[in-house]
Amino acid sequence: MFEKIVIANRGEIALRILRACREMGIKTVAVHSSADRDLKHVRLADESVCIGPPSSLESYLNMPALISAAEVTDAVAIHPGYGFLSENADFAERVEQSGFTFIGPRPETIRLMGDKVSAIECMRAAGVPCVPGSDGPVGDDPDEAVRIARQIGYPVIIKAAGGGGGRGMRVVHSEANLLNAISLTKSEAGSAFGNDMVYMEKFLENPRHVEIQVLADTHGNAIHLGERDCSMQRRHQKVVEEAPAPGISPELRAEIGGRCARACIEFGYRGAGTFEFLYENGEFYFIEMNTRVQVEHPVTELITGVDIVKEQIRIAAGLPLSYTQDDIQIRGHAVECRINAEDPATFMPSPGTITSLHFPGGPGVRVDSHIYNGYKVPPNYDSMIGKLICHGETRDAAMARMRTALSELIIEGIKTNTPLHMDICADANFLAGGTNIHYLEKKLGL
Ligand code: ADP
Repeated sequence: MFEKIVIANRGEIALRILRACREMGIKTVAVHSSADRDLKHVRLADESVCIGPPSSLESYLNMPALISAAEVTDAVAIHPGYGFLSENADFAERVEQSGFTFIGPRPETIRLMGDKVSAIECMRAAGVPCVPGSDGPVGDDPDEAVRIARQIGYPVIIKAAGGGGGRGMRVVHSEANLLNAISLTKSEAGSAFGNDMVYMEKFLENPRHVEIQVLADTHGNAIHLGERDCSMQRRHQKVVEEAPAPGISPELRAEIGGRCARACIEFGYRGAGTFEFLYENGEFYFIEMNTRVQVEHPVTELITGVDIVKEQIRIAAGLPLSYTQDDIQIRGHAVECRINAEDPATFMPSPGTITSLHFPGGPGVRVDSHIYNGYKVPPNYDSMIGKLICHGETRDAAMARMRTALSELIIEGIKTNTPLHMDICADANFLAGGTNIHYLEKKLGL
């Protein structure tokens, strides 16, 4: 096992990784910007290194600074968390070229999955169901584009191969707008992502977002940990997630999960990963793969008992998975609310000092958060300040527990989206299960 790991991230996920390391007897190095000296995990880590000024570009995205932090502390591996450099193939490559272990997939895999056109090609070949589409990039021939769109059937969506974060997409409802939409998306993608390749897919009108968690080791083993439903979104940002997804039968789970696990073996995947699907009328359609741990991983941990972060570390150290597929049993239901420092009505960020804090507790309640009384939420980063995760024997029990937990949560001094979560967790349609990806925005009147 590794002696010492650099945690190349901040906030709750850095603390999550630190806790896993401590339980595994691994020493930790916290790296932080000058705005983040007071982060909880920085205080708890064995060592800490300031890697730059508040700007992410000069700190958490600064590859040489991160690699030097590993060098000066004699660390042997780097855990990238999520966001920042976690899906940057060049970073993974530089980490490995510098003689450290990158806790994640091989750089080639990250690169393959980072390009949506190559990712879809790879999934099709591995038998993972994809959205009907152009089977590759849309070229410059207008007649060909028109032909493909007719074949798929309108509405279609034009997507940038290098897109991310919900950017670089355009829906086309009729042929009259097709060519213009393609050229606009191409030029936007060129300037935003440095890659103007676009492709076309059938636009699904009312899908849910359902994703499959996988783990794959370097000994040819891969398993799936079932699915999560992350349909409750605003501007393509997930707000509430749950596992399992309402209405997915054990047979369907085994079928789609099995395909994802087999695909991992086929393309030599390593580590934790997520296959994201749109789910409509009982069918799964692959949209992209995330090659890292996800924000919403705790809901899966609560229903399976698997510690995903520890498995990531074990896999990176060359150990086989601790579980076979048969070991994985789904028990009960879990729901997660992302707590953001923001105005619950306008969604404007609300940084500042926390003047009073009380976290909920009791059976089946988990809080993953780095904040504490007196902590100052800096204005420089993502507004998520923690996650409240509740488990219950049934979905109704998990939701009741979440409502109780939310009612106990006190965060003063800054605004948070707790009122929005209380509203969602008492919403009759959400409680009935199966609301689609447009539901929250419609509810909010957006
Ligand atoms: P990103 O990497 O930017 O997150 P995704 O491919 O994951 O891009 O798509 C982001 C979101 O865009 C999806 O969650 C979904 O809401 C919407 N979307 C993408 N493709 C389609 C499609 N074919 N039909 C309907 N909605 C889509």
